[in-house]
Amino acid sequence: MKHSTLHIVGLSGGKDSTATLLIAIDRLGKENVQPVFADTGNEHPETYAYLEYLEESLGIHVVRLKPDFSEEIAKKRLFIARDRRMGRDKRGERMRWSNKAKRRALAVLQPTGNPFLDLCLLKGRFPTNRARFCTEWLKRDAFVEYVDSVIQLERRTVVVWQGVRRNESDKRKNAKKIERMGNKYYNFRPIVDWPVEEVFRCIADHGLEPNPLYQTLGRVGCAPCIYATKGDVRLLAGSDSMITDRVRDWERLVGQASKKGYAAFFQGKELAGTKPGEVSDLVFWERHQIDGILKWAAKEGPFMKGDWGLHPARGHAGDDGPRCGSEMGLCGD
Ligand code: SF4
Repeated sequence: MKHSTLHIVGLSGGKDSTATLLIAIDRLGKENVQPVFADTGNEHPETYAYLEYLEESLGIHVVRLKPDFSEEIAKKRLFIARDRRMGRDKRGERMRWSNKAKRRALAVLQPTGNPFLDLCLLKGRFPTNRARFCTEWLKRDAFVEYVDSVIQLERRTVVVWQGVRRNESDKRKNAKKIERMGNKYYNFRPIVDWPVEEVFRCIADHGLEPNPLYQTLGRVGCAPCIYATKGDVRLLAGSDSMITDRVRDWERLVGQASKKGYAAFFQGKELAGTKPGEVSDLVFWERHQIDGILKWAAKEGPFMKGDWGLHPARGHAGDDGPRCGSEMGLCGD
């Protein structure tokens, strides 16, 4: 029987959201459960394949949300073309786009259909820990807009099932099992107190495999994520050269779309000997762009100023920096 309440599962392709989806289907029947995946355009190919595997195995359809930044890009093009500002900003940078930078940016500032790339072209940079606009613009906003459209247009109550567990991170340690978010909008976290073993057991008990990325990369989420550690970068570089090639290509395009003319996917890492102000701009960008990052990742232990001569190589687990983690469980796990 179809319920008047819509139960939406925020699916990332990771183990926690998969287990949550399975519980929702067990309790309510698949006709009452709508899995929704926020596609950043920066997912690992294995994750796209895993969604299809779930669809086939469970006989379900996963709604894929793909934000479109065409309008914002069109406005930014106009802004750049007409920019006549004078003076400098707080950091002493010239505010106005030079004619040369305008020509360079306008040549590449076009929607590509890939949300992650389009957002970075729009911003003229990649996200960092301090400016983590990726989760917000690509996942949270797209998801909340979808939920809101169901509430407003279909006039239904929505319960969002989230694969969030308290022992995953400090941020999530106080996560509630049920939360009222607004009129006709609730969050429900059925596995909030589960240990990780129970999550994998639940998937196996349903006769399913977890995302194969747990075997190779140990995690599911953007490939790469801005928070990738040395170990993550090595594993990614070793798993599929398409991923590092894509990052290199995106850095070139986003750099062209920026006022400075440079961009780096891992700009926020501020590596040894390359903190802003310690080296020239050119050196900073070179060391933070993907080839510099591969050198950094190749070295075991702390990276020193003199290590820039190292060659990229594969290796295993390394340091642990800050990790991504959307409070809504949308950023992979
Ligand atoms: S997984 Fe990482 S890169 Fe992707 S949206 Fe989340 S924080 Fe950003």
